[in-house]
Amino acid sequence: MSDLNVKDWVKQVIKQDEIDKYLVDGKDFIDEETIKQELEHNKKPDKSKIRDIISKSLEIKRLSPSETAALINVKDEELWEEMYEKALEVKKRVYDNRIVFFAPLYLSNLCVNNCSYCGFRTENCNETRKILSMDEIKKETSVVVSEGHKRMIAVWGEHPSSDIDYMVDSMKAIYEVKEKAPNGPGYGSIRRININAAPMKTADLKKLWEVGVGTYQVFQETYHKPTYRKVHPPQTIKGNYQWRLYALHRAMDAGIDDVATGALFGLYDWQFEVMGLLYHAIDLERQFGIGPHTVSFPRLMHAAGSDVAEKSPYLVSDADLKKIITILRLSIPYTGLIITARENASLRRDLIQVGCTQTDASTRIGIGGYNEALKKWKELQEESDTQEEFKQQFVLGDTRRLDAVIKELTEMGIITSFCTAGYRCGRTGDKIMNLLTNCIEGKFCKLNAILTFREYLEDYASPETKKAGVLLLEKEMAEVSKYDWFTKHPEIVKEFHKLYEKISSGKRDLYI
Ligand code: SAM
Ligand code: SF4
Repeated sequence: MSDLNVKDWVKQVIKQDEIDKYLVDGKDFIDEETIKQELEHNKKPDKSKIRDIISKSLEIKRLSPSETAALINVKDEELWEEMYEKALEVKKRVYDNRIVFFAPLYLSNLCVNNCSYCGFRTENCNETRKILSMDEIKKETSVVVSEGHKRMIAVWGEHPSSDIDYMVDSMKAIYEVKEKAPNGPGYGSIRRININAAPMKTADLKKLWEVGVGTYQVFQETYHKPTYRKVHPPQTIKGNYQWRLYALHRAMDAGIDDVATGALFGLYDWQFEVMGLLYHAIDLERQFGIGPHTVSFPRLMHAAGSDVAEKSPYLVSDADLKKIITILRLSIPYTGLIITARENASLRRDLIQVGCTQTDASTRIGIGGYNEALKKWKELQEESDTQEEFKQQFVLGDTRRLDAVIKELTEMGIITSFCTAGYRCGRTGDKIMNLLTNCIEGKFCKLNAILTFREYLEDYASPETKKAGVLLLEKEMAEVSKYDWFTKHPEIVKEFHKLYEKISSGKRDLYI
């Protein structure tokens, strides 16, 4: 495509009427002054007030901005210890002790935008640009599937070469891949594709819905408007703050009711960003009755050719990241929280313990990175840490393979889930919101987590992981029969046992 065509394409992306329809009296839901006042007015919360707020979270009720601001302002380290503990309790009530795994797949690093912190930005001349062909997408998917993954998050830069038609075709290509499992009788495939892509118009989002998109994820990056303007040049598509702010609203209108938000922590003050995420959840609830399916909190990482991550005065420490996750867990108790391989292994372990629900492993974010890694895994017969800085967006903190991460979490008593049943049975959107806030979804998911973990252990696990996994499954199976909710639903438990037996004897992809 010539430069002129690219410019024409850029001009037609934003539809002003698809922003205006969500504004109230011409205003969006982020009011800087209000957020600053909330933080200021709750500067010195007393212990008993904080404990009342925590009790509300434990009832799985979303907190108000002022309650969240009070949590943000806690200084007493002993009280923080209490909050870490309660955050995990909230997670267990809603999601049980399970963690869902996914793998990201970067399909193209072509981008018309110029975000100062991103290796894909158009002015980064050192970046080797690549867009995967359908055949290459299938080859990358094969490697991911052969690791045992069932969920993928597909990621694109924003460019006419990776427009909606390319996205739809690539999703079809991913869903077509079927691979014989290395150890057991199963065939692996991707059962749910989530996507992280630029904001789109409603008509394009409908096309994603038709081809079976799972969750649609758009990070606002920063809710602070002056900072947003500084890092996203105004003449670019991404320079339009409100086009991005209402991306998830448009997705809801297009029928995609699993939407996900996030902020890129390190661009501006983390306390403000947490408030921004909360206001985003509140506005989605207000306009659609459904909050975000997940919230992400990526930290700014070094990106090739950019010094933003080195120079920003707002970089978030490990200790503050733990606080951010804890506050989000307590403040939006129903939402999933995603911790990624951007973080190193030991920190990730610690952060999962304050209430994260999803993570990735075996991750490669270079374009074509999975096949590159496969060659090295075969050569070395071990994990490779090589990262191709110039073909990827930033540098990862944890490049361990899925089996190693699963083994570690299993030994910590956390059950791995590859479950995609909720989405395939229509437990999404308002239906899942009700199940989550009433703590029922976690129970269904417990059963489906056990079924999919059993599949993984049979088909993909190393002998050591299988040994640890079988031990954990025995404990989990014993718990199922003790749970109050399960004793009231014996028919579901009976069906579950039937499915479990079928999986042990070679059947696959069974769920409740
Ligand atoms: N181009 C689309 C967009 O910007 O929404 C989607 C893809 S973009 C590669 C996905 C996310 O990566 C961004 O939303 C941003 O939060 C994150 N990201 C970009 N640069 C980063 C960096 N240096 N460190 C950590 N995360 C980064
Ligand atoms: Fe492009 Fe997204 Fe990177 Fe911005 S963050 S340069 S839009 S890929």
